[in-house]
Amino acid sequence: MITIKTEEEIKLLKIAGNIVYQTHQYLKDKLEPGMTTNEIDKLAHDFIISQGATPSFLGYEGFPNATCISVNDEVVHGIPSNKVIKKGDVVSIDIGACYKGYHGDSAWTYYIGKNIKSDIQRLMEGTKEALYAGLRQVKEGNRISDISKAIESVANKYHLSIVRELVGHGVGKSVHEDPDVPNYDTGFKGPMLKAGMVIAIEPMLNLGTRFVVLEDNDWTVSTYDGKPSAHYEHTVLVTKDGYEILTGE
Ligand code: MG
Ligand code: MG
Repeated sequence: MITIKTEEEIKLLKIAGNIVYQTHQYLKDKLEPGMTTNEIDKLAHDFIISQGATPSFLGYEGFPNATCISVNDEVVHGIPSNKVIKKGDVVSIDIGACYKGYHGDSAWTYYIGKNIKSDIQRLMEGTKEALYAGLRQVKEGNRISDISKAIESVANKYHLSIVRELVGHGVGKSVHEDPDVPNYDTGFKGPMLKAGMVIAIEPMLNLGTRFVVLEDNDWTVSTYDGKPSAHYEHTVLVTKDGYEILTGE
């Protein structure tokens, strides 16, 4: 069921979204070679708690940590561990925060170090551009498929492949609600967008094949060919004539 949020709910969703945004801002300056993904997760966990919120993913269907940290060929749902990040790594951090029962959800991909290789730059730029192209389709009266098609067309422009097994979603009292927001044209129009809906748009694009595998931990999704993947996500409010990003500036 797709829910239309009340004014009061939107107020709380904005606070939750802002906490997620602030957590990303707090983390991004601290990322450096030699840190473990556990250390990054602990920083995010403690920051979210300090803002009066709780990490949405901690305990979600048994997920053991506050954040998902997916390195290089890991697409999503990387479990923080003793893995050390190093120069040249592509690190996607997915953060959810719950404030007074309402969630925000945003992922961002960070490059560790400088001197970025051109194919990695294409991966990151293309995936970010795909997110914003999707966002620009958000307004009352448009369809979910308008978002999907816009994302697909940017992925094609950058010669990146689209992970199909995972999709964007509604956000509210639960971090994952209806509707699904696919990152490719499924051939169906999908539900119509209405003011007051809140959705997360989250393209996951790969440099190589679109195919993915599930790791033995039953969480982490990695690319089949071992090539890197990027993931950018914002939670967004549908308005009469456009959208408002809840997890950004
Ligand atoms: Mg997310
Ligand atoms: Mg999400």
